[in-house]
This record gives sequence, C-alpha cells and structure tokens, in this order.
Amino acid sequence: MSRVFVTTPIYYVNARPHVGHAYTTVNGDALTRWHRMCGDDVFFLTGTDHHGLKIQRAAEAAGQSPQEWGDEVAETFKTAFAALNVANDDFIKTSEPRHYASVQWLLRKVYDNGFIYKGTYSGIYCVSCEAYYDDSELLAGELCPIHKRPIEHVTEDNYFFKLSAFEDRLLEWLTASPDAIIPTTKRNEVLGFIRQGLRDFSISRTSISWGVPLPWDPEHVCYVWFDALTNYATAVGLGTDMERFEAWWPHVLHLIGKDIIRFHCVYWPAMLMAAGIAPPKVAVHGYLLIGGEKLSKTGLTQIYPADLAEEFGVDGIRYLLIREVPLGNDAEFSHEGLVARYNADLANNFGNLLTRVATVVAKKCGGITGAPRLDSPLRAVAEQALAGNQLAWNEIRPAEAVDATWRLIRETNAFLETNEPWKAEPGPAVEAVMADAVEACRIVVLLTNPIMPTICQRAWEGLGLAGRLDDQRLPAAAAWGSAPSGRTVVKGDPLFPRKAVAAKAS
Ligand SMILES: [Zn+2]
Repeated sequence: MSRVFVTTPIYYVNARPHVGHAYTTVNGDALTRWHRMCGDDVFFLTGTDHHGLKIQRAAEAAGQSPQEWGDEVAETFKTAFAALNVANDDFIKTSEPRHYASVQWLLRKVYDNGFIYKGTYSGIYCVSCEAYYDDSELLAGELCPIHKRPIEHVTEDNYFFKLSAFEDRLLEWLTASPDAIIPTTKRNEVLGFIRQGLRDFSISRTSISWGVPLPWDPEHVCYVWFDALTNYATAVGLGTDMERFEAWWPHVLHLIGKDIIRFHCVYWPAMLMAAGIAPPKVAVHGYLLIGGEKLSKTGLTQIYPADLAEEFGVDGIRYLLIREVPLGNDAEFSHEGLVARYNADLANNFGNLLTRVATVVAKKCGGITGAPRLDSPLRAVAEQALAGNQLAWNEIRPAEAVDATWRLIRETNAFLETNEPWKAEPGPAVEAVMADAVEACRIVVLLTNPIMPTICQRAWEGLGLAGRLDDQRLPAAAAWGSAPSGRTVVKGDPLFPRKAVAAKAS
C-alpha cells in the first residue's frame, strides 16, 4: 500500500464556485478515487483562501466581518463540490486556528534559519491582483495589466523572503527530480524562470489587519504566499502534529492551473527548503478556453457547475470535464463540444453497450450470465484497458485513462456486431458470447467508477453484482473471469439519455 496526498488550490472567497474550480477539483477527486480503489492510503484536500485586502474590503462593504463573509462563501464551495460527488477528506479554510498555527510555525522556522529580513518596499500595487508590478508591466495610464484599473503607489516596511538564495538549490532539485513538475513543458518554463534570476519577495504588510500576524513582529500581517501556500502543510499537521506531517508530506501532489505555476513551482519549494522540508510534486494544467456559439460570450466565472450538472447529470459533467479538457495543455470547452461528446461517448458507447448487453441476455439467455471464456478475444483487450488505466492514473493523465477504457467499450460493441447474438438461437454459443460481453462491461464499470461513481454503482448492480463498487480492489477485481457466474442481469433505465443537438443558427 502506498500513500497519496492530493491537493487542489485553495479557492479565493471572492467569487461563486465556477466551472474552473470544478475542473481541478473533479480531476483530483477522480484521481484519488482511483487510488482508493487500488487500496492506497489517500488524503484529498481542497479548501478556500480567506485573507487579503480584497476580502477585508468586500466584507466591510457588505457590513460583515471578514470571518463571516468568508465562512458564507466557503459554504457555497462545500455545497458545490458535494453536489459534484467530490469525496474530499478535508476542507481547509485559511481563517482557521489550525492554519494560523502552521503558518506561524513555518514563518518562525524560516526566520530563524535566516531567510527572512526586514526592508523597505516602495512600489506599484494592484489591490485586485494583490500583486506588485514593475513600471514596465503597466498599461498606458498606470493601469493594472490584468484588471485595467488604476494601481496604487505604496511605500512601507515589509519583511522579505530571500528567494534569491535558492536559485541553485531549485535547479538542483529539478535536475534530480525530472518529474517533480509535470508536464515537461511546464517544468521547462519553470527552469527558464529560475535561470533568469530570482528576486526576493515581500511577505508582510502593516496596512492590513485581516490575516496571520508574524510571530516575531505582530504589527505585520503575513501577506499572501506564506499564508496561502502553507494551507497544504497545515492540513497534514505542519507544526501541530509533526508525526502526521512527516507521514503524508513526502506523498504530496499539488494540482494547479498554469496561472499559479510560479508560486507553486518556485516560491513554495524555496519556502519549504528554507525550513528544511522537501519540495512537493506539482501537476500543472492549462486553461479552459471557452468557445462555441452558446458559451463564447460567457466568461469562465459565469459558468456554474450546478447548471452543467442539471443538463448532463452529475456523472455526465464529471466525465465531460475530465475527458473534454484533458489535464495538461489548454483545451477548448464549448457547449456544442460537450453535447457531442456526451452523445458519442456516454449515450452511444457506454450507455448503449450496457443496455444492449442486458437486452440480449434477457432475450437469449433467460436473463442469466454464465462464466466468460478464458480464451475470449475480449480478454486481452480488457487487460490492456486495465494496464492503460494504471499507467495513465500514475502519470496523472485522467483523460488517457478514459481512452484506455473506451477502447474496451468500442471493442466490445464491435465484438457484438461481429457475432450478432441477437440473431442467434438461444443456446451455449450465444451464452458464451454474452458472458464475454457481460464480463467486459463489468471491467468497464470498475475502471470508470472513479469518474462516474453513481452511474457505475447502478450499472454494477444491473450486472447482477453485489456490494459497493467503491469497495472493490484493483487490480484483482478487474481480473478476467474473477466474478461469480450465474448472476441475473437486469436492464434498467437508460444511463445516459441522448441529448438533442441544437439546430445551427444560420
Ligand atoms: Zn490587477
């Protein structure tokens, strides 16, 4: 048994949960569900980021304390993720006392190790970005390049983290651990960034009251990085339960979008090194590019997971997020694309196979499935599907795991087309063909369970199998012929009713 500790970014409590949040979280959920089925010891963390000037100001405007404001928004994230059947083991809020304890522990350690110093900062700051800019980065008229709004000039005493001291150590780490940052294109980006030279960055503010006070100078509140990034370590007990921390930390994997690559792949590893802690493994994904006619005028942040789940079903949208936008590079996300993929992959392939198999077993085999043949042509395909899943999940490529399983679905449909059991007289020949097809379906359902747990449980029961699918252990459960024969196969309601394709506006 091995350990797996998967994190999503903490989501900033200034917005409703949107499809971008759902994307990373559902991928993390499927990944951790796969590992649970493999019998691994799993910890899946998500949560929310509560501090910063933006939240302080938004709460003031709403007449609430930042604590109340953040707690309310955090609930909307918990609800949204629960509605997507996300089985996180913990939900961290950076406003919690346990987090303050961990952040202060880390700050103290890094300060004592000599990597934090006091300096004066004067610079240009965008409140919305919570980031400092160089003159050269601004748009004409001193506007923030992201928000296109006026920036603020500030001068204040700050504490700084000595990031510049870590160039060589970061390069050594990435050389010694070539898969610490995946995919390779993103690792190369990080290497390029480090080789350009690293600047120390400010880690405190006196102008903000909402946040974690520095333990040696409580007039200063911790600013962004030591606060936000430390959440991952808080959740497994940094500074509060070091035995637990040491058990989980070596197995950490951060799932992040490429917009926060610099902070997770340069700042955070250096901060950890400064405290004598090993840097994490990071899997970086691209952007969801919203396209197509129906969604193209909608921003990513205006597309809500609940609306998509209502249209495609919870399992449907989980599948579509994982398969339509493979982790890694940017990928287009359009309503037209979702409908087309839903119909092709779920209605026509997956759903149709299960319905068709149950129908023929009912008509030709008295509803009972026999033992699959050990020399069935589908057996090798099923074994390849299992191997393909193992490889893809280990390399954190959920969309490729889907592809491996869908090859088995297509081959099973083709096997039925070739054998045409619906035309045959009842008897041993058709029973053998159908037992093979039922066995292939059983393995498909096992392999797809991390992505579509509710539908797969229904399908599992429809195949006459007992117990919770989540309790099945891979790879043993996916061995060809490992289930009892003589089961009653039941044809249920269609798992994925076909969607009408909207007529094109001319
Ligand atoms: Zn900005």
